[in-house]
Amino acid sequence: MEVPENIITCIMCIYSKHPYVHRGAFSSYFIVLDQEGARTMKGKLLVIGFGPGYEKHITERAKEAIQESDIIIGYKTYIELIKGLITGKQIISTGMTEEVSRAQEAVKQAELGKKVAVISSGDAGVYGMAGLVYEVLIEKGWKRDTGVEVEVIPGISAINSCAALLGAPIMHDACTISLSDHLTPWTLIEKRIEAAAQADFVIALYNPKSGRRTKQIMEAQRILLKYRSPETPVGLVKSAFRDSQHIVLTSLRDMLEHEIGMLTTVIIGNSSTFLHDGLMITPRGYQRKYTLTEKVQPLKPHQRLQREAEPWALDQTEELEFSMNIDVVVGKDSSRELAEEALNIVLREKAAAPQVMKQKFQSIFEIAVSPGVTNKKFTAKQMMILSEIAGEECVLEYTPDHYIKLQIVTSDPHEIVKKLTQSNFVLSPVGDVLTVKACDFCDGEKRDAIPYAEKLYEKLGGMKLPKELKLGVNGCGMACYGAVKEDIGIVYRKGAFDLFLGAKTAGRNAHPGQIVAEGIPPEEIIEVIEKIVQEYKEKAHPNERFYKFFKRVKKIQGFEYQDITPKIKMEVPICGE
Ligand code: SF4
Repeated sequence: MEVPENIITCIMCIYSKHPYVHRGAFSSYFIVLDQEGARTMKGKLLVIGFGPGYEKHITERAKEAIQESDIIIGYKTYIELIKGLITGKQIISTGMTEEVSRAQEAVKQAELGKKVAVISSGDAGVYGMAGLVYEVLIEKGWKRDTGVEVEVIPGISAINSCAALLGAPIMHDACTISLSDHLTPWTLIEKRIEAAAQADFVIALYNPKSGRRTKQIMEAQRILLKYRSPETPVGLVKSAFRDSQHIVLTSLRDMLEHEIGMLTTVIIGNSSTFLHDGLMITPRGYQRKYTLTEKVQPLKPHQRLQREAEPWALDQTEELEFSMNIDVVVGKDSSRELAEEALNIVLREKAAAPQVMKQKFQSIFEIAVSPGVTNKKFTAKQMMILSEIAGEECVLEYTPDHYIKLQIVTSDPHEIVKKLTQSNFVLSPVGDVLTVKACDFCDGEKRDAIPYAEKLYEKLGGMKLPKELKLGVNGCGMACYGAVKEDIGIVYRKGAFDLFLGAKTAGRNAHPGQIVAEGIPPEEIIEVIEKIVQEYKEKAHPNERFYKFFKRVKKIQGFEYQDITPKIKMEVPICGE
């Protein structure tokens, strides 16, 4: 059948039984009429989020969608923001509170076969027009298969654009809450702020304040201060990426002293968010397993996902009890019921044990303790303190180095260090650090070298190194505590120290350290050892043991390596050297 030209809408066809296809001469839309005479329109609704308003942050698809549309419908201010992209288009713009009429008009035009762009700033699906467009369509009996096509084109929402300007504040669980109570009862908004504050979400407050709504932001602050420190970092971003952009970093306590308006997004940090050099940063949690200053991590790749490395995981913590309560809410029918029940559980938990509500950042804290550098005797009281600190879940391990190593799941390692120090324990970090292994100097009878052992512990104990390093200090030529079998060993003899370097303590080719000097005067020994350790720290490869380093560099602080490779070639066992 021949298609008539220049026909936009043919009333005859709509009410007749003829399957015409009409093509508009000055646009590219189609109207298709089926055999029954009912219309199946091929217009399209393009619901577009164009981001913060800066052209470079508008997605390629959003630009394309604007270009392929016949009509652009939007709030006047938004139309103004993208005016460079809509030249020559038919524009329908209305003011604030006219969202419904814009959505209705868009649907109407799409049903007439036009491609209609409905624009929102930010993301159309985040407090934008996407939901409303669908609601208007659904009210009219729209179905996806038979109704006009709808495409929602995502954009950068304010939570993302403002976060980028502030640093990285939403690196962890975050939520958005609009403080506008024009369409939402304040009591519900209040509940949401309360729940988000309790659950330690980073919170982005949209629509925080307007000319008439001035109290909401004050109420929000009041609720948040019930659960968060007044020092909690807060970022205020006005008109992100627009000419009038303004950024303020402040705190929960002081935020109201700054300008907050319709165009401001308020980002409240969680309990671990911090400020650094004008940036607001929320840690993702890597510090629980990784040491960010080290190339070699305490947990090897194969250990990082093991259960022992994640004592905070669902099935491994005391919080299991709390999480089990989640079962109570399973079975609720709607998400609202689920949320309300979850909130009730939180409130009950809080009433029963307020301390449970404090955000816990638990991690495994490892530390080695001993009664003293030279003292090998734990007192009964010290054992009781250890037992008290350890509780039922801590691991206590007695090591060949005369330390007790504690592995404690805690959110407050400083408190544990304080208790141990008050109980006169000598503390050493665990891992790739220097450990001083002194003998007991015949229970203190041979005291001459004790001050040097203590001084070495004081100066070098716990120093981070490319690999763990043990420094043995023995009080006489008997060397019964095996100083010569340590990475570095010093043996006090005839009023001076003998120095041994590069022992290999394990394996079939284990060997003592090489004696590199005899009779080092006591007043020099501390400096000699310090320099050796410093050279190893600076020049060793990551993970390179001291004996390998000595073998490689051949000379440390003038002390020469002697080749002591066995004459026979030793077979390397399957399980390693
Ligand atoms: S190395 Fe000497 S001083 Fe030290 S405990 Fe043994 S015998 Fe006593």
